[in-house]
Amino acid sequence: MVDSQAETAPQPAGVRRPALSPSRAGDFKQCPLLYRFRAVDRLPETPTRAQVRGTVVHSVLERLFSLPTAERGPERARALLAPAWEDLLAAEPGLGELFDGAGDPELARWLDSANALLDSYFELEDPRRLEPEACELRVETELESGVLLRGFIDRVDVAPTGEIRLVDYKTGAAPREIGEAKAMFQMKFYALVLWRTRGEIPRQLLLMYLSDKQSLAYTPDEAELRRFERTLEAIWQAILKAGRTGDFRPNPSRLCDYCDHKPLCPAFGGTPPPYPGWPEPDPGPETVLDRTD
Ligand code: SF4
Repeated sequence: MVDSQAETAPQPAGVRRPALSPSRAGDFKQCPLLYRFRAVDRLPETPTRAQVRGTVVHSVLERLFSLPTAERGPERARALLAPAWEDLLAAEPGLGELFDGAGDPELARWLDSANALLDSYFELEDPRRLEPEACELRVETELESGVLLRGFIDRVDVAPTGEIRLVDYKTGAAPREIGEAKAMFQMKFYALVLWRTRGEIPRQLLLMYLSDKQSLAYTPDEAELRRFERTLEAIWQAILKAGRTGDFRPNPSRLCDYCDHKPLCPAFGGTPPPYPGWPEPDPGPETVLDRTD
């Protein structure tokens, strides 16, 4: 197994072409102004405890698969939780503000809830019976139209027959029905990137919903991925058009309740900052938190 490997053409150091990720494409579909705030203005957002818990659980599962097969038991997974949280905190010290110090009983409850997700994971599969090809695989491909796609896949399994399975862990508290369309969009995105990079359509896309202990498996087909490719191209063209003019319109929905930028949103009486212009060369990569759910 290879951890955190990159499946991409080499890029000159320090140069990143604008690319479309599933999170940012999803933002634009949901609300063009949200896309602008995140990818163009790069406004900071405050991650929630649930988002950070997801990041930590993903990190534990990645670490688990780096261990020898026989050592990947539930107790070992639990033992990996505190170091994963401490490492994340060291990398992003601001996350410490989510809790009132190391003695905060809320922190203990939060860690317990992360352990519960790990326990749920073991009810869905036994990692001692698996040998993934890669975890947290960074993928990137350029479509014929020139659109650059980039993202991270939680896990890639390859069967002895060569069939590929893409796995994504979902750790959010919401029932899976709520995020299912978004999750499928993300998985088709990765299936398309894998197909274009390796020349093979993944046999299965597997979503593992740890909070409700359910898995959803899906088999993509070529016609569908071709249609999806055209959808992504259309999204990218719409982004470029808005980027040239700065015309990113708000699209209010019930998801506005979760938007950090509501105070700046004209749909809610706010005023966005002056448009800074289309970013060159990078409109904003996914962050570690984007990759969680
Ligand atoms: S509050 Fe709603 S409409 Fe406004 S930017 Fe956020 S998601 Fe878009």
